[in-house]
Amino acid sequence: MKFIVDLDKCENHGQCTYLAPKVFHLDDNGELDLREGAGDEYVSGAIGEDLAEDVQEAADMCPVQAIRVES
Ligand code: SF4
Repeated sequence: MKFIVDLDKCENHGQCTYLAPKVFHLDDNGELDLREGAGDEYVSGAIGEDLAEDVQEAADMCPVQAIRVES
């Protein structure tokens, strides 16, 4: 599976960083660090089974539904 973050929608609430701390982090400015080098959208590489559940949970809990999971 992979995940996509709509960086226009993301408001840096940070819930994802608690639910999937191995994947999502806020930078020193309090912004999602996946923004670096990405445009409107961040597209991940393949995510292992071990992280899939956490990422799905982060997607479910993101208050602005900015995270999309694709198989
Ligand atoms: S929970 Fe959603 S809005 Fe908050 S930082 Fe993560 S992707 Fe952005």
